[in-house]
Amino acid sequence: MTSPWPPASREHPFGIHNLPYGVFTTTEDPSPRIGVAIGEHILDVSPVAQATDSDHTPLLDAPNLNPLMAAGRSVWTTVRAEITAWLTDADYRDIVTPHLIRSRNAVLRLPFEVADYVDFYSSEHHASNVGRIFRPDSRPLTPNWKHLPIAYHGRSGTVVVSGTDIVRPCGQRKAPADESPTYGPCLRLDIEAEVGFVVGTGTRLGDRVPLDGLRDHVFGMCLVNDWSARDIQAWESVPLGPFLGKSFATSVSPWIVPLDALAHAWVTPPARDVEPLPYLDDRDSEPAALDLDIEIRLNGHPISRPPFRTMYWTAAQQLAHLTVNGASLRTGDLYASGTVSGPEPDQRGALIELTWNGRDEIKLPDGSRRFFLEDGDEVAIGAYAPGPDGTRVGFGEVVGRVVPARV
Ligand code: MN
Repeated sequence: MTSPWPPASREHPFGIHNLPYGVFTTTEDPSPRIGVAIGEHILDVSPVAQATDSDHTPLLDAPNLNPLMAAGRSVWTTVRAEITAWLTDADYRDIVTPHLIRSRNAVLRLPFEVADYVDFYSSEHHASNVGRIFRPDSRPLTPNWKHLPIAYHGRSGTVVVSGTDIVRPCGQRKAPADESPTYGPCLRLDIEAEVGFVVGTGTRLGDRVPLDGLRDHVFGMCLVNDWSARDIQAWESVPLGPFLGKSFATSVSPWIVPLDALAHAWVTPPARDVEPLPYLDDRDSEPAALDLDIEIRLNGHPISRPPFRTMYWTAAQQLAHLTVNGASLRTGDLYASGTVSGPEPDQRGALIELTWNGRDEIKLPDGSRRFFLEDGDEVAIGAYAPGPDGTRVGFGEVVGRVVPARV
C-alpha cells in the first residue's frame, strides 16, 4: 500500500480542514455509500466506522446523508471529530488505508434526498441588473426587495447531481414583437451561479427559526446551477413567478461542505440602507456573510468570478424569513442564495447579465461567441472559501452539459 499519510496536504482544497460529505459508487461496488473527500481520495466511511466500533455506524452506513443530517448539530460535530481522527492519527492508518478510494475511480451521486427546494434572489447587483434589463423605465429594485429576501418554491424532484446532462427544455416562448406564442426548444438557455444550503434538522409546523438558528438547522453547503430558460420564463412568469422556465433541472455539486469547515469564512455583510424588521435585523449579530470566491467556466474558459460576500441577504436571514410564517423545515430541504453577482461586469453570475440580455457577446478562445448556451456547451461552477492558516476550503464543482432538445 503506497497511499500517502496523511492522505492530503494542507494546501489541498479537500485538505483535512474541509472533509466534505458525498455519496459515491464504484465499478466494483455499485451500491451508493457515504464518502468523505480527502485530497485525491474518498474515504469510504462505513467500513471504517464498523472497524472502529463507532457509535455512529448506523448514520454512516447509509445510501445517502439524510440520517446523518437528521441527527443534529452535536452529532455532526462529534462525527466530524471522529473522521478527523481517523485521517490524522497514525494508529488508524492500517484500518483506514484500505478504504481510501481514488476519486477518479468513483462516480459521485446526489448526496441527499432533496425534500423541498426554495430559490432566493438575494444579490442586490443581480436583482438591479435584471431590473434595469426588463424595466428600464422603473427603479431597478421592486419596492419589497430591501424589506424581505424574495424567493420562489422550486421543483425538488428535478434537482440533479453535477455531471447530469441538461436536456434543452421545450416550451412556449413569445418575444415582445411576436403576435402570439410559439412552441419549441428554448432559445435563451441560461445559468445561474448560486450557493445552496442543506437543511439537516427540521422544525415543527408553526415554529420559526430565529436569526441565530442557522447552525442548529443547516448541515452544510453546496454549489447550485439554477438553469433558466429565459424565453419560457419571460412569457410564463407574470404574475405568479418562475415555473417551467426553471423546473426542468437544477444542478448541485456532489460535495456538501459542513458549516464546521467554514469557521474562517464568516465576514460582515454589506451595509444595508433600509432598516430591516426585527426578525431580519442582524446588525448586532455575529458576522453572517460568507467569503466564497466563485468561478464560472464555459467550455473550460473562465467567464466570471462572482464574490459571494457581496450578497445583501445572508443565509441566516433567508432561513428566518423562510420559516417566519410557521412553515416547517424537513431534513433534506435545500435553499439556494439566488444568482451571485458582484458589482463589476466580470462578476456577474448569469449570461443574461454578462451579455445584457443578448446585446453583448462573450468571446471564447476558440473564436466562437455566445449570448446564451448552445447544445454541447459545458458549464462548470467552482468555489473556494478561506480556511485556517492561509488554506482554502474547496467546494469542488457543479458541472453540466447542454444536450439537444427532445423534439
Ligand atoms: Mn435562481
